[in-house]
Amino acid sequence: MSQNVIWKTSPNFSTGRGGTAVDRIVIHYIVGTLAACDATFLNPASQVSAHYGIGEGRIHQYVSVHNTAWHSGNFAFNQRSIGIEHSADPNRAPTTQTLNMSIERCVTLCRQFNLNPLTAIVPHESVVPTACPGTVDWEYIRDRTAARM
Ligand SMILES: [Zn+2]
Repeated sequence: MSQNVIWKTSPNFSTGRGGTAVDRIVIHYIVGTLAACDATFLNPASQVSAHYGIGEGRIHQYVSVHNTAWHSGNFAFNQRSIGIEHSADPNRAPTTQTLNMSIERCVTLCRQFNLNPLTAIVPHESVVPTACPGTVDWEYIRDRTAARM
């Protein structure tokens, strides 16, 4: 079953991957809803983006997976990774629906880029010091994706 991905093109990205192979999927939390994610990523002044945002029953794509989104705070890491944002905040974990949609997206991406989920799926906090992905159980996403491969 393919997901209905809704395009919301962000102006915040770099064309291409700088010759780097994609080998990581970075798990983020929005600290808000998908609507807040849209507002930030569609604003050129924010200078941030991710490839996908998931929440409230929807999945939005902001940047092509063949281009570099600005999500991890480390440009070299951005060039080798895909960023996925999840609707959640410090007092609100993502819903089961959001997690399931994320797992389905991760399965698709791991197949597309020939990735092992157990090494490819990482939390934002592993890239730079940050509270992200907060209440998102990224290990659950990683392990359920691996079980589906
Ligand atoms: Zn993050």
